[in-house]
Amino acid sequence: MSLLEHLSAKLTAIEAKSLKRALRRADTGTAPRQTINGRPLLMFCANDYLGLAAEPAIADALAEGARRWGGGSGASPLVSGHSAAHEAVTDTLARWFAPHIPQARAISFCTGYMANLAVVTALGDEHTEIFSEQLNHASLIDAARLAKASVTRYGHADVAGLRTLLAASTAKVKLIVTDAVFSMDGDLAPVPELLALANEFDAWLVVDDAHGFGVLGAQGRGTLEHFGLNSERLILVGTLGKAAGLAGAFVVAHATITEYLLQAARNFIFSTASPPAVEHALLTSFALIEGPVGQARRANLVALQARLRAGLEALIQAHPTLGWALTPATTPIQPLIVGGNADVMLAAARLEAGGIRVPGIRPPTVAAGTARLRITLCGTHTEADVDQLLATLQATAQELEAA
Ligand code: PMP
Repeated sequence: MSLLEHLSAKLTAIEAKSLKRALRRADTGTAPRQTINGRPLLMFCANDYLGLAAEPAIADALAEGARRWGGGSGASPLVSGHSAAHEAVTDTLARWFAPHIPQARAISFCTGYMANLAVVTALGDEHTEIFSEQLNHASLIDAARLAKASVTRYGHADVAGLRTLLAASTAKVKLIVTDAVFSMDGDLAPVPELLALANEFDAWLVVDDAHGFGVLGAQGRGTLEHFGLNSERLILVGTLGKAAGLAGAFVVAHATITEYLLQAARNFIFSTASPPAVEHALLTSFALIEGPVGQARRANLVALQARLRAGLEALIQAHPTLGWALTPATTPIQPLIVGGNADVMLAAARLEAGGIRVPGIRPPTVAAGTARLRITLCGTHTEADVDQLLATLQATAQELEAA
């Protein structure tokens, strides 16, 4: 069989299961408003939770950074790609997390996927057992597959189950790995309980705060601030492409851990450093996150979350035959579980026809039978935007019920 025939057969199978994905090109705009194929759309799909990507101060800082540093970094960090702008970012992050991680140092990456890959593959050697939460992000799953460590999965938020597994482990090093905010469910991991287990069983806790950084905590420092945690056993990963409104990622951990990543994480060592202009602009983003703009948008997010959730609960009650459901979300990620793959794509298409963009999320990203509309809020959405979403969902539900 030729490769092309082989792939065509696979593509046909993907399509038959209503699992075919397609790129959709935005013509202009940033969250929560974009123009696609000439049509303005109100978006509830970006991870730009504070709306910072659209901030003029960020665009100005990017331009200033580009004038000062030029385009790309030109090399990997240990050759010549590491700039004063990179160091200002890692210094700021080390200072931000000093109250949460003793002897905290930070190391920067181009993406969260890369940061997760670095932590899990560098620390997950043959002496290590990785305890991986069932709903972890794909980047953590892929990293665990690549690591030399043995990998044990534990159930979603199943602290008791994890306790049993840790008690039975004879590994020299134990690494618990979890998302802080689950990206397709919007709920929070029981991080304080996981940390207590880490203390009890001499384990270390990798927390991927991709969706908490900037969003949770009074100063926007994320899940560690939200729970008021402090431990040298915490290894924090964050991405800067979501609430920070730019790109990049970081690991903050005890200085010995970050030093080891610098020596051993192959994807850090052998990959071009991020553009210094982006790092320069991140300093502006950090000032916005901890200042009045971030505070006001976090407060707006909390208010909109409550409004949206109440509206979704009423919608579900009004249309019981559709079998729609909510997850236990407590963050700006508020998914609406629809069930079938074709049904969720139909609902997403109806919403888009009504001027609203919400992505349909299907397996393997979520479990079969739990395809969902992944609604995400942005700190620059208004009450009127949420009401428009709820009204369009209501019309969609009526249409689907009648079909
Ligand atoms: N972790 C989680 C939980 C995520 O949702 C994502 C992005 N979808 C990542 C890591 C990867 O981050 P990045 O997009 O910066 O590669």
